[in-house]
Amino acid sequence: MERRFNSKKANNPPSHTNSIVGGGEMGRRIRSYNWAETSMGPVKGWSQCLTFAVNMMLQSPSPMVLLWGTRGITFYNDAYIAFAGNKHPAMLGSRYEESWSEAADLIRSIIRQCLQGEAVTCKKLNYTVYRSNNPEQIWKDLQCSPVLDEKGEPAGVLIISTETTQYIRAEEALKQSEERYRLVVEGTNEGIWDFSPETRASFWNDRMREIIGYKKDDEAKPGLDLLLRIMHPDDKEKVLEALDKTLKSGAPFDVEYRVKHREGHYLHLHSKGKPVFDEHGKIKRIAGITIDISQRKKAEETLKENEDRLSGIFNQTSVGISETDLNGRFVLANDQFCNIVGRSKEELYELGIQDITHPGDLAANYWLFERVIMEGTPFMIEKRFIRPDGSEIWVKNNVSLVKDTEGKPIYILAVSHDITGRKVTELEKTRLLAQTQKLNLELETSRQQLLDQNENLKKINTELDNFVYRTSHDLRAPLTSVLGLINVCRLNSDISHQQIYLELMEKSIARLDNFIRDIINFSRNNRVKVTQQEIDLEKLINESLEGLKFMEGYSCIDKRVEISGEASLFSDLFRLRIICNNLISNAIKYHSSIAEVPFVLIKVHVNQERALFEFKDNGKGIPADKTDKIFEMFYRASDSSKGSGLGLYIVKEVIFTLKGSIQVQPHKEGGTSFIVEVPNGNSLFPEAPLKH
Ligand code: ADP
Repeated sequence: MERRFNSKKANNPPSHTNSIVGGGEMGRRIRSYNWAETSMGPVKGWSQCLTFAVNMMLQSPSPMVLLWGTRGITFYNDAYIAFAGNKHPAMLGSRYEESWSEAADLIRSIIRQCLQGEAVTCKKLNYTVYRSNNPEQIWKDLQCSPVLDEKGEPAGVLIISTETTQYIRAEEALKQSEERYRLVVEGTNEGIWDFSPETRASFWNDRMREIIGYKKDDEAKPGLDLLLRIMHPDDKEKVLEALDKTLKSGAPFDVEYRVKHREGHYLHLHSKGKPVFDEHGKIKRIAGITIDISQRKKAEETLKENEDRLSGIFNQTSVGISETDLNGRFVLANDQFCNIVGRSKEELYELGIQDITHPGDLAANYWLFERVIMEGTPFMIEKRFIRPDGSEIWVKNNVSLVKDTEGKPIYILAVSHDITGRKVTELEKTRLLAQTQKLNLELETSRQQLLDQNENLKKINTELDNFVYRTSHDLRAPLTSVLGLINVCRLNSDISHQQIYLELMEKSIARLDNFIRDIINFSRNNRVKVTQQEIDLEKLINESLEGLKFMEGYSCIDKRVEISGEASLFSDLFRLRIICNNLISNAIKYHSSIAEVPFVLIKVHVNQERALFEFKDNGKGIPADKTDKIFEMFYRASDSSKGSGLGLYIVKEVIFTLKGSIQVQPHKEGGTSFIVEVPNGNSLFPEAPLKH
């Protein structure tokens, strides 16, 4: 509150024209108000000053309140109704301090001062009003003046209310906005500047100074001139050009440049600004920000260096590097990869992996390729590429997946080593190893053959010794016998004995003949190649029997032949004849003189694979403990044996040559069976090797 003036006592007489005129709603309300019932008394009795003051107030377009007397009886005009809110209309005629009980003290003080002749001004009074039944914060300035009565004494107070809510709010908003701007300017990490081209004056925030190493209280004057002083000489022209452009065209100011920090090192700064125009469209300021981009520049430089380095490695490395999309199409390749596959980059980028991979390696490659995309599992593959000239090149490929920043697969990266040299060596090694193994096997076979041959030779040697001994003995025995008989003949002239001697001599010679025939057969078996021909079995057996008909006892032996089977026999006739002759002749030779009907049964059964012979007799038989030995050379199972002991040995050898088998089965009831099996045909049985 302030005092404006001191009132002077007036000497004007009271007026007698007491009427309230006009004044809108409040005029009506005052006129119709029953003042007579109040301390004010009827309007007619009001002093001229009061009536004048009420009329003046009612005519005013400004919100006004008139308080009368020390009690502060309230009058107000239409313009005030809005301020009164829900206090209207009850406020009229009541005590002002009662209507505004929340400001009763202030009101009392105002009334008191004004009634002492002082004018009072109250500013920025804050109220809550209920204009439309809703509480509302408002601000008012009050101009309070004493109203004098006819005697010039202060009798009332005239209050002129001016609502300042709008200004207060605008002021508040401005304050907040300024505060925000101040916080931004002070708190930002960016240098903020404002430059006036006309005066070259500049505003810099603290950060702007800080960026270039100047303290807040440094005496160096901030602005373009300071910047130009510390600017890298190579960048000055660029900055001035950018400024000139903005000033001439109004285009935004945007430039990067280097300045020397107070500590001596260079900084990279980026300044951006916008012109601010005056009402005539002339640029009055350029306002903007400056950022220290040294770190970004450094990172960019490092990145570029790394990229250059990587690009150097990429192209100069001795390994092939390639990238394909997820369909296997080449999208990137270094020089070495092009060398490996023998194609230019342009050519390669038109192709896919399948176009240059050896067909034999495609399936495995495809499978792994799919897996690396699905599971991200890197893999290694040794495979062949086909070069345009058709040549093959072996590579070891290490393959992995390249993903984007969101982890989505984008490329397949392969690092290829040319391993053709190693592969060729490996293949050559494998070939040599196989060859060596084959040679070793052959060597082993030869060694085994040599061992067999050695065994064979040893056997032959033994046989030969035996043979020479037995041959000389068996050849000489019949001859000695014949010579003896010749001497006996000479001495004995009795002709009746001559016949006996001749028969004895014939037997000796026949034995000799048989022996020589055995030796010839033995020798032939060893030297004559095995041949195959269709065998007429009946004819073969009958011829054998026919050749043996002069043997002793032949005529009294029952000879039976049974041939059956579903196939013809293809075999070696010469050797089959040796088998038949020997086994049939033995059956005859060793027939039993005591058997009721001595017999020899020859059974043959032929099928596609083999012929099965059985030579069965009911002769003297062979003791069971001797059956193992009867196939030995010169072995005779009993002293009564009449042969050389060579027959079964030769049979066994012949059957061996034919790749067949022989078994002897002595019968309990007497007699023997020889079971012979020979293969049918030579297709299944390769030609048997000759022994000598
Ligand atoms: P040999 O010239 O003595 O007949 P082999 O080698 O043919 O010589 O026979 C060996 C021996 O086997 C004969 O000495 C004989 O004692 C016995 N042997 C062979 N075949 C028969 C047979 N069918 N019955 C009885 N003994 C036999």
